[in-house]
Amino acid sequence: MAKVAIVGAGPAGCSAGYHLAKSGHDVTLMDKQGFPRDKVCGDGISIESIQAISTMGIYPHDIQKLASEYAPIHHFFLGVSNQISHSEQTNLEAYCIPRAVFDQLLYEKAIDAGCRFLVQTVHKNNWHHHGLTDAFDTIIDARGVSAGEVNAIAIRAYWTVQRQDLPETALLEAQIHFDRSLGVNGYGWIFPVSTQHDLIKLNVGVGVWLDEYQELKINVIQLFKQFVGSNKIAQQILSKVVEQQSPKVFPLATAKKGNRVTDGKILKIGDAANLTDPLTGEGIANAILSGFHVAQAVNMSRTPEAIADNWQYLYESHFEADLRAGLRIKAFRKFSFMNYLLIWLMKQNPRIARQVSHAVAGVVPYNEVLASLKY
Ligand SMILES: Cc1cc2nc3c(=O)[nH]c(=O)nc-3n(C[C@H](O)[C@H](O)[C@H](O)COP(=O)(O)OP(=O)(O)OC[C@H]3O[C@@H](n4cnc5c(N)ncnc54)[C@H](O)[C@@H]3O)c2cc1C
Repeated sequence: MAKVAIVGAGPAGCSAGYHLAKSGHDVTLMDKQGFPRDKVCGDGISIESIQAISTMGIYPHDIQKLASEYAPIHHFFLGVSNQISHSEQTNLEAYCIPRAVFDQLLYEKAIDAGCRFLVQTVHKNNWHHHGLTDAFDTIIDARGVSAGEVNAIAIRAYWTVQRQDLPETALLEAQIHFDRSLGVNGYGWIFPVSTQHDLIKLNVGVGVWLDEYQELKINVIQLFKQFVGSNKIAQQILSKVVEQQSPKVFPLATAKKGNRVTDGKILKIGDAANLTDPLTGEGIANAILSGFHVAQAVNMSRTPEAIADNWQYLYESHFEADLRAGLRIKAFRKFSFMNYLLIWLMKQNPRIARQVSHAVAGVVPYNEVLASLKY
């Protein structure tokens, strides 16, 4: 059995640790922070993420039991610049859960499976210097966006609203907005996070791509304010807010073309491998699934070289087609009327509405959406 070091104990690292420890390997999971720890996020746990964590033995009823704060999501809302929108009900429940709570569930699963945990910062790619290459047979880089290639940014804040001031649907709805104020491919989100009490916490944010952001030539915080100022729903909520956090900026490592998920013998997973969705910035599902598949690569291979080749192969067979289709849809969105057309089509055709909503929630691959739009 191999000695494995996993650096980074987010969803990707904990998933890899869980699966490798379960298959009998000697796993050391390292993170620069001890747990519980927070992670900045939109806190959206998509249907695909819910499916992915079942590979770690965490099921929806566990979430409701173990997560002290959560919101069940029954509707997916897509809107374009206050002009056209569609809300699709789903029987497949997703959630919004603060990451301090969600990541703790995954961390505990990895530890229960047999991972050893160390608080340790591993800077840059100096694995030799840290003695990791001598001490371990396999090294997995799961350090998140700090190890990936940053190609987008997200600006996020929490707002607090009194329950009676929000319509009931707002407590069950994940909203994505394609607003002109956010440039060609930008998106805004409004997610309910903690809906179990009288004070409701909402996660409000925007995401933009660095190449487009540079063209917008405005301050990033101004961009968030512009979204809130021009979006009617955000405005209505803001008028009821009893407490608001200042928006802050965070990097994103979304999909890229020609992606190599190995660096020599180092195996990159999750955000470190740029596995985040290029349309919505959703990355938890692929982080967890990449932990599962990298463990298969370790289990199925005899040499470190074979492990690296097999992980690249499994990445290409399980992730690349969907991420590439996402990049293609992102390219279509360059023609801004495409957003309107998409939502118009969703309104006309319930099958397309369901597919697009489920693609945004991660259940239907983007390549299937592209195929269905052709007919
Ligand atoms: C503002 C924002 C909103 C988002 N919203 C959503 C959303 O709603 N839904 C969704 O699915 N995804 C969302 N994402 C993306 C999601 O957060 C990531 O894709 C996901 O966390 C990736 O998991 P990971 O395990 O690869 O990395 P992370 O969760 O970032 O975990 C990396 C771990 O590595 C540790 N680490 C970092 N550097 C070092 C180092 N040098 N040495 C040791 N340890 C280190 C960190 O402490 C951390 O614990 C959002 C991201 C941002 C920034």
